[in-house]
Amino acid sequence: MAKKDSRGLVTVICQACKKVTYRTEKNSDTTKDKLSLNKYCKNCRKVCEFKETKTK
Ligand SMILES: [Zn+2]
Repeated sequence: MAKKDSRGLVTVICQACKKVTYRTEKNSDTTKDKLSLNKYCKNCRKVCEFKETKTK
């Protein structure tokens, strides 16, 4: 396990093309569930659903 920090950096990936990623922060104390965001994907050229993915 990584160092416990309530404000962690997460990577979200476009669910449609799996190519475009964004970095965002989440508070793991208040957000237990996986992050899901609607963002503009420059690859799909539309707003897509982005979901949290594990950073390797
Ligand atoms: Zn996309």
